[in-house]
Amino acid sequence: MAGDVQAILPRWLVPVRPEGQVLEDHAVIVVDGRIEAIIGAGDVGGLYPEAHRIELPVHALIPGLINAHTHNAMSLLRGLADDLPLMTWLEDHIWPSEQRWVGPEFVRAGSELAMAEMLAGGTTCFNDNYFFPDVTAEVAREAGMRAVIGLPVISLPTAWASNEDEYFQRALEVREDLLGDPLLTTAFAPHAPYTVSDAAFTRMRELADKTGIPIHLHLLETAQEVDDSLAAHGRRPLDRLADLGLLGPSLLAVHMTQLGEDDIERIASAGVHVLHCPASNLKLASGICPVAALDSAGVNVSIGTDGAASNNTLDMFAEMRLAALLAKGASGDPEAIPAARAVSMATLNGARALGLETQVGSIEVGKSADLAAIALDRSGSLPVNSVISHLVYAVGREQVSDVWVAGQRVYEQGRMTRLDVDSIHRTAGQWAERLTAGEQK
Ligand SMILES: [Zn+2]
Repeated sequence: MAGDVQAILPRWLVPVRPEGQVLEDHAVIVVDGRIEAIIGAGDVGGLYPEAHRIELPVHALIPGLINAHTHNAMSLLRGLADDLPLMTWLEDHIWPSEQRWVGPEFVRAGSELAMAEMLAGGTTCFNDNYFFPDVTAEVAREAGMRAVIGLPVISLPTAWASNEDEYFQRALEVREDLLGDPLLTTAFAPHAPYTVSDAAFTRMRELADKTGIPIHLHLLETAQEVDDSLAAHGRRPLDRLADLGLLGPSLLAVHMTQLGEDDIERIASAGVHVLHCPASNLKLASGICPVAALDSAGVNVSIGTDGAASNNTLDMFAEMRLAALLAKGASGDPEAIPAARAVSMATLNGARALGLETQVGSIEVGKSADLAAIALDRSGSLPVNSVISHLVYAVGREQVSDVWVAGQRVYEQGRMTRLDVDSIHRTAGQWAERLTAGEQK
């Protein structure tokens, strides 16, 4: 592999750190998957004469987007049940479908579809939470995608495991299998406070303390969750988790729409990371995460799409735009979450939450070359008065032309280089027939 040198020459380079910076006429030199140097475009010939030159004359080059919360396999459930509140959606539609269909085949088909969608949209890394994580990991390897593979824990029997002991046993087996993988790490993925017991949370915390792996949890998603916790445990979910020793930097808290002012200070000082899923929260009318206040308090806020069953796409450009707009609308402050901050949330903040900050999330020397190129020569993104503004407010994911993960070009001029998209789409079609037949019965 030594000597594999690429010189990527975009019209605009957005390194993300420093936030808001845009460089022109620069080249990113990639050697064996890492960013070796960022130099003036005119110096490439002299310094790296052997480099394979990739000219991107109308493009912005950004770090690959990081989808901080998703359920890949649920892509197969896209559009199966919409316009419902969370618990009706889960109990009457999602859980019964899952009970009937979820297995390795389902997870493979859904994960392939999700990864094809994400890569073509400039997303290079995802944080997943689903059953059969071994299958998700296998597909990520085939796709050449970076991921944090969730190790599910839920106090209900599923096709993946029948009791808590088995969930932990299988979690640790998957973790063991992935140790040392260059692109894959793991996180515990307990479903939610209302589906996980105190004993399981405690055991997870002890294992997390020992291994350093994060805990990725749906938390404070709805007002009902808070009421149910008061009824079942005599405490709000945040108090219960604090009592169990879970409030700390290894907690990756998804949703967080039910936060009071004291809570914001509390999670800021504990170093809890927030994984914000604006489309899913709006669609299920769960509530609104107070992103502007969290950001001001110094909480690390990243962005996720949630699964395609509640979004209904895995489009990080759409999610970034929505995150910026919603933060302004909800706070009444148009200066909240400016475009450059929204870009950070979709890249570097995600990397920070996932423990990958030294590897990805920005275009810096020494980091992995996880990159996305976006063509800006479209009517809807001209004139290019501001690249950063366009990335958030004007660009669509169909403008992504090329994507690299660890220096490997997995999407090249609009074509997937590793995944067989036609076959993935055919299989998805077959699943639609089975699933809709099940819903209509
Ligand atoms: Zn979710």
